Amino acid sequence: MRIFTDGSAIKIPVEVIQRGTTQPDEVATTITIAATEERQREEEASSAVGVIIDQRHQSDALEFKTPRRVGTDRQAAELFGILKVIESTDQNQAIKIELASKDTVDLLSNKIQDVEDKGYLGIKNADIIKKVMTGARKRKRKTFIRIIDEENQEAQRRRQKALESAKRGLKKGEEMGPENQDDPRYRQSGMKLASMTQSLAYKMIRAQKMKNYQRQNRTNLNLAKAKASMKTTHHKNPTDKEIWKGIRSKDFSRAVRYFLMMTTHDGYMVGSNWERPGYKPELQARARCRKCQITETMEHILTECQCTGQEVIWNQAKMLWEMKGYQWKKLDLGDILTCALPRFKKNRNTVGDSRFYRILISESARLIWMIRNDRVINERTDEATDKEVQNKWVELMNRRLTLDRDMMHQKFEKKALSTKLVLSTWKSVLLNEETIDEDWTKKNSEVLVGIAPA
Ligand SMILES: [Zn+2]
Repeated sequence: MRIFTDGSAIKIPVEVIQRGTTQPDEVATTITIAATEERQREEEASSAVGVIIDQRHQSDALEFKTPRRVGTDRQAAELFGILKVIESTDQNQAIKIELASKDTVDLLSNKIQDVEDKGYLGIKNADIIKKVMTGARKRKRKTFIRIIDEENQEAQRRRQKALESAKRGLKKGEEMGPENQDDPRYRQSGMKLASMTQSLAYKMIRAQKMKNYQRQNRTNLNLAKAKASMKTTHHKNPTDKEIWKGIRSKDFSRAVRYFLMMTTHDGYMVGSNWERPGYKPELQARARCRKCQITETMEHILTECQCTGQEVIWNQAKMLWEMKGYQWKKLDLGDILTCALPRFKKNRNTVGDSRFYRILISESARLIWMIRNDRVINERTDEATDKEVQNKWVELMNRRLTLDRDMMHQKFEKKALSTKLVLSTWKSVLLNEETIDEDWTKKNSEVLVGIAPA
């Protein structure tokens, strides 16, 4: 079982670098690697590697100075040499790599599983080791590694030759240019639960907890906003439980309930949620509102943004709410999240007016969010016009009115809406209301909200 992976866990399960104690006869290419280092305790510490590629009738010698970004010691040089070999030799050919350094052979054969399982924590030259393993896994044929046989004169001769190459390499300038990125598809990531020590597990669990804690913090922040708005606007002090209950109100459509729940949890990818390490710059740029040039928040989108959307929509909502006989007050995020809670009593129509308010505010807010998504996600450079936004809103409100009528049907049994509830909800906000039947719900004719399309 692998936990805490970043989603790039190995997908191509290949046996990789193997210890070549029993070397298959069919491997025709032997690669001998030897490294040297100098001035190890000084600023200008450097290392280099010599590579001898021995095939049946041919022997090639290569030398590389270890790039500083890879490392400056002998092992970094050996790993860099191995990487060069893995990248430059025929991918369809099995190879044997031999070197005199027991520690490097041991690392890539016996220890590598453990190193990967522990997520490379505290491992020297981790980056280059990852690149070597990525390269080895990409190869279609096996890559063997072994310690140079001290008794074998031929092998000792190759080693000497490699060492001379390495010494020449030290005099060279280092290779320029970026290394190939290690391919995440081949990288082992995360940790195996079984091999985790308690302290490692503890560290990772704490990191996870921190994430949850930050999420909880954002939720608490929104709940605090909700409470502040309820206190300022309606002089009420709802509990968290009452706020959540309001968000689950059955008067909301399913889509609206989800929208309010996600917004309260700050669950949408908005603003600082994009500013995470590991996100590409073009994604991180999404944190900002392009028009207003500030970090976007849900509150900005719903109540402040200069893009065509929120202002037009709230103006329309204001018109309907004033038709109901109430004064409009500019909303903030807390008002939107708590729109199911206030009771409006002015017209002796408390249930209908309060129900209309929660529908009006929540549907309007969600439409603003949808219009914003259409602009940002589809990377539209042109904004919707005022007229388009107005018409979308009128269409939405009419749809919501029709939904109420449909929900009166007996097939909904207990969930069916009563005539009284529907009539009281839409009372005073219909188009040409004085000319339509008192119980318009039973008629087949169309009934619309009191604002015509632009
Ligand atoms: Zn904006």
